[in-house]
Amino acid sequence: MSEQVVTDPLKFARGRQSLAGNLSVASMGRLKDGLASDAGTVAYRLTGYLNEEGEPCLRCQVSGMLQMICQRCLEPMNYALQVDAVLLLTNDVQLLQDDDPEAPDRIMAQQDLPVADLVEEEILLVLPMAPLHPVGECKASAGLSETGKLHPFAALARLKSYKE
Ligand SMILES: [Zn+2]
Repeated sequence: MSEQVVTDPLKFARGRQSLAGNLSVASMGRLKDGLASDAGTVAYRLTGYLNEEGEPCLRCQVSGMLQMICQRCLEPMNYALQVDAVLLLTNDVQLLQDDDPEAPDRIMAQQDLPVADLVEEEILLVLPMAPLHPVGECKASAGLSETGKLHPFAALARLKSYKE
């Protein structure tokens, strides 16, 4: 898996370039810490363009299936990841510090933008703080239908052996 780097984000945006690739979940240290499993990959696409005001932008799209931990039953749950974020490139540090929630997201139009870091950052921004199974689909309320899957956490194995 190659480490992709946008060496000149401004040129990338102005030239309407794009690149795409896959990242393994296991390679994203901050992301995998909050997941039930670091298996799998996400697919990303980065597209440069100029918006209506002529400002250089990057559109970051990411999709994939993540194994999160349901905060109700503490069992793994599939989370269909969808990121579609637009980042404005700027050299203005003042704008970067603007915490107006209405303002568009901005990143430094610096040299060498590591794509993996950007993708991970954007994933972390969209992940729910407290992911939950759909109502009625948690282990406890679903009558403990055993899937037979091995669980990485010993503490959670206890829940599985719980007899009704
Ligand atoms: Zn649940």
